[in-house]
Amino acid sequence: MWRSAEGSAVDMLLPEDIRWCMERSKDHEPYTPVVKYDIRSMTLHLCHTCNLMCRYCYGKAGAYNGEGEMTETVACKAVDFLLQSTSNRSLRLSFFGGEPLLNFKVLRKTVLYAIARRLPALQWRFHVTTNGTIMSPEIASFLER
Ligand code: SF4
Repeated sequence: MWRSAEGSAVDMLLPEDIRWCMERSKDHEPYTPVVKYDIRSMTLHLCHTCNLMCRYCYGKAGAYNGEGEMTETVACKAVDFLLQSTSNRSLRLSFFGGEPLLNFKVLRKTVLYAIARRLPALQWRFHVTTNGTIMSPEIASFLER
């Protein structure tokens, strides 16, 4: 689990990330809270495959009867949905699989997008449920920040 500290999170944004976030955000209307579900957290199944095949896995060795990875478009739309469905200012976004780090590219983009969608007094908490076997220095550095 890591918590976004706004300063350090923004420091992570590369020029191409900023361009990408601005590109994605320009299609969105200004944020208007629409309290329908009072959602506080959301879990995204980033990847329906896993690099392990645990016999006890409740998700058919991570496959959940289907393969595939969530796209960044779907993940960012989910972030928008979360923001538009609640007035809470303390929100949690969790990444799950399969093994969610197999889709680290989308995890990273989704976190940056959520942070870029800055709203007053909004605090994000990000969680990832991982088997940890494909941790790399790049991933560890991102999670740490
Ligand atoms: S690591 Fe987790 S998701 Fe992957 S096969 Fe094992 S129990 Fe299932």
